This record gives sequence, C-alpha cells and structure tokens, in this order.
Amino acid sequence: MSSGALERAPPGRGAQLRDEDGALALLACAICGAADVRLTEMALDCQACGASYPCEDNIIDCLSVTGHGQERPRLYDNPYYQRFIENIEAHHAAHYAPGSLSAEIERRLKEDLYRLVVPSTETGIDLGCGAGDALQRLSGAGGAIGIDQEMSLLKMARRRNPEATLIRADLAALPFRSASVRRVFAIAVLEHVFFLEAALKEIQRCLAPDGAFYVMVPTEGSLAVTAARYVTSIRNARINGMTPAQSRTAQRIDHCNTVFLIENSLEKFFRIEATSCWPFRFGGRQFNLAKSYRLRPL
Ligand SMILES: [Zn+2]
Repeated sequence: MSSGALERAPPGRGAQLRDEDGALALLACAICGAADVRLTEMALDCQACGASYPCEDNIIDCLSVTGHGQERPRLYDNPYYQRFIENIEAHHAAHYAPGSLSAEIERRLKEDLYRLVVPSTETGIDLGCGAGDALQRLSGAGGAIGIDQEMSLLKMARRRNPEATLIRADLAALPFRSASVRRVFAIAVLEHVFFLEAALKEIQRCLAPDGAFYVMVPTEGSLAVTAARYVTSIRNARINGMTPAQSRTAQRIDHCNTVFLIENSLEKFFRIEATSCWPFRFGGRQFNLAKSYRLRPL
C-alpha cells in the first residue's frame, strides 16, 4: 500500500473512498493530526489517539467529534438573523429558481475565479462546498473533497457527486496532513466565517509549499455591495416577512466579514499572487461586487 497508513475500504457503503494516492492519502486525524487513520464502512478511525469519526451516507463526520472549539457567538442570536436562517430553504429555492438573477451572478462570479486557476491534476478541496455545485469542476486526478459544516447540504452534495469525498468539519480543525494539499478553494465562504483567522491559520497548516489557495468573496462593505443590497433586501424581506432594513441587518450578520478585513487577514497567512474583480475588472473592491484571489504560502 502506497501510504502505509490507509487501508482499503471494504466493498459497500465506503467503497468509493478507495484512491490511496488521491483524497485518502491527504487525510489525518482532526484531533491529533496523525496520518495513521483507517477507513471502515462505519467510521474513520485514528490509530494514534483512538478518535473515531462516524460515516453516514459516506460522509465522514469530524465535527461531531471535534466540536466547534468555540462558543457560538452572541451575534447570531439576533432575531432578524434567526428568522433569515429559518427561511434559508426558501432563500435557496428562490436562488435556484429558473431565470434567477442571483444564480446567474453566482455562475459568473465563479467563472471569474476560475480564470485565476493554474491548470493542475491535484485533488481539489472545496471548503464550504455546500450542495456540491462546484465539486465536479474542481475535481482533479485524485478526485475532489468537499468540506462543509451542514450535514443536510453534504447529503445534497452526495446525491450530485457520488464519487466525491465529503467531510463534515470545522474550518479551524481540518482532517488533513500538514503541508499536504495543493489545490484549495473557498468560494463565497470566508465572508461568513466568524473566527476567520483561526480558519486561515489551519488552511495555512494544510497547504503544501507549492500549493495554491483560491478565494472568492463578495466585496462586503464596498459601495457596490451596499448599493446592490438595497435591491436584494427587497426580495429577501418578502421571503422573511420583515422590512428591507431588518433584512439588510440579517444579511450583514450572515456576511460578518468585510472584504477589507478578509484581505488584511489573508495577507497575514498567504502571499497574494493574482487577483480579479467582477464585473468590471477595474475600479477595485469599492466598485465591484466580488473579488477573487490566487494565494500562495508565505
Ligand atoms: Zn488522532
């Protein structure tokens, strides 16, 4: 066996987790960091510390074992934010409805990020993969790995991507070997991450010296997003049954990090190699709706 650590999964539910030179060769214990982990039908087991991460629907659940490591911030107790989250399925349905403007914008935002991607056959890791929309596109020779906190979204991702490796994990406790991963993506994710620098530090730990980290974020806090939000808050207010101003409060909590804070934090852990702004490409963060980055380890 190539890695000496990972055992072939038995046939059946764990059968697609089999490529020892791909996704499985990157995995480590999310608690102790040991590479000596073994996959059975029911769990990923650490041979060093004894931690056992259950598998459900072929999704490795690290979060149920590690926990978040942080208390839930009080920010999220806001009643408008709570109502927004209660209606999240309706927001998703509106987003995915035929002819949806927001879905078309998201597609173009992703294309702008993909312009920065250096061609590679390395396993693509999608942090905050959600329902798995991007996994096929990010897949390399070793396949793709989707990471998310929400089991319901990962189950949707599983139906769409039967071959992908899917893991429920906190961004600040990733189940990867140090300096192992070469292609990591965070697409419209970092604006939501309350403990941002803990997550970036962990991504830095996992990234190989020749690896690339690709980030796309909306330019939260810019003139462009502030203006656009006056439009989007009208639709969201209707879905949430609240006023547009209350809806903007909820959206602002959902996007707890501005693009300015995110870029400062990225520069503490990575070197910015290339950027792109959408839709105008010029005018910088203030006048565009999103910014994409290709980052290298410091
Ligand atoms: Zn362990």
